[in-house]
Amino acid sequence: MRIDILSLFPAMFKGILESSILAIALEKKLVDIWLTDIRNFSYASHRNVDDRPYAGGPGMLLKPEPIFRAVESIPHNPEHPPLYILLTPQGEVFQQKTALELSQKEHLVLICGHYEGFDERIRLGLKPREISIGDYVLTGGEIPAMVLVDSIARLIPGVLGDIESTEHESFSNGLLEYPQYTRPPVFRGMEVPEILYSGHHKKIEEWKKQKALERTILRRPDLMKNAAQNSGENA
Ligand code: SAM
Repeated sequence: MRIDILSLFPAMFKGILESSILAIALEKKLVDIWLTDIRNFSYASHRNVDDRPYAGGPGMLLKPEPIFRAVESIPHNPEHPPLYILLTPQGEVFQQKTALELSQKEHLVLICGHYEGFDERIRLGLKPREISIGDYVLTGGEIPAMVLVDSIARLIPGVLGDIESTEHESFSNGLLEYPQYTRPPVFRGMEVPEILYSGHHKKIEEWKKQKALERTILRRPDLMKNAAQNSGENA
C-alpha cells in the first residue's frame, strides 16, 4: 500500500514514522509513505498558500491552486487510482471499520488542512472522502492524518506480529475488549480471576465474551445499540 500525505508541516511526521510499528512496517516495505510539502507547489513569492475568505470572516483559507498542483504531482497507477481523503472536522467520523476498509486500498492520498480550512473548490474539484477524527477542532490535519496512518497500517497483513491481536481488540467485533491480566497472580491484594489459569478453554472463552459484553454495556451503551441495529439489518 502507498500513502501520500500532503501537509504544510511534513516534519511533524518524523517521530511517528521513525518509531514502533510504523517504522517496522516501512522497513518491511509493507507500506510506503510519502510526504509532500504543499508549500513547494505555491508559485507565490513568499511561498504562501492561504488567502482571506471572500465576504470576510475570521482567518485564512488554503487556496486551491497549490493543493491541486500537489495532488497532480503524485505518481499513481491508473489501474488503482488513489483515494483522496480530506481531513476535516466536517467529515464522517473515523471508526475502526473505516480503518479496516482503508487498509485494503492500494493508494491513499491524505490532505491536511490548516488555518480556517479549505477553499470549497478543493472539495468540489477533488471529490475526496472527508474524514474527521472526532467532534473537536484541531489546528491542522497532521494529527488526524497520523491517527489514520497508524490505525490503518497496523491492519495491513504482516505489520503486527500476531494478526489475531487485531481480531479480538476493542471495536473489531462491535464490543470493547474484555479485561486482561499478566503476572504476578496477586498484586497488592488484587487477584487474577481464577478462571484465567484454569486451563478450561471453553469456559475462558465464555468468560471473555461475558466480560466484553458487561464492559461495553457499562461504558459504551451506544455500541450495543449499533450492534443490535446491524444484526437487525443483516437479518
Ligand atoms: N474552520 C474549520 C471548520 O469549522 O470546519 C476548522 C478548521 S481547523 C482549525 C484546520 C484544519 O485542521 C482543518 O482544515 C482540518 O484539516 C484539520 N482538523 C481540525 N480538526 C479536525 C478533526 N476533528 N478531524 C480531522 N481534521 C481536523
